[in-house]
Amino acid sequence: MSWTPVLPAYRTSDGGALLVWCEHESQWHVHGAVSDTPGAGDGDRAAHCACPRSPLRSTGYVVREVGPLTPGLKRQHRPARGRHRCPEPCIIRPVRHTVPSTGSRA
Ligand SMILES: [Zn+2]
Ligand SMILES: [Zn+2]
Repeated sequence: MSWTPVLPAYRTSDGGALLVWCEHESQWHVHGAVSDTPGAGDGDRAAHCACPRSPLRSTGYVVREVGPLTPGLKRQHRPARGRHRCPEPCIIRPVRHTVPSTGSRA
């Protein structure tokens, strides 16, 4: 039993590729669009993650085309510059670890 994440995919302006945003690496991963038909490239894909600790590497992911890659989407997703530095622990979404505010009555 493995849970396969579904990632929204955006078609590039030339129509030939689908971009999915990798939250773990803060990078776009590029997949083939297969054909001009919207959704033709949907389905299970092996993760394109370069990071060996990416959680997507073990599950892969499902690509689901949702629309064109717009300038607004590009602004919302800024690829990290330089080499990906793995958070510890490796997670898809950053989780804020809150310290219980019970005070310190040791
Ligand atoms: Zn990745
Ligand atoms: Zn990583």
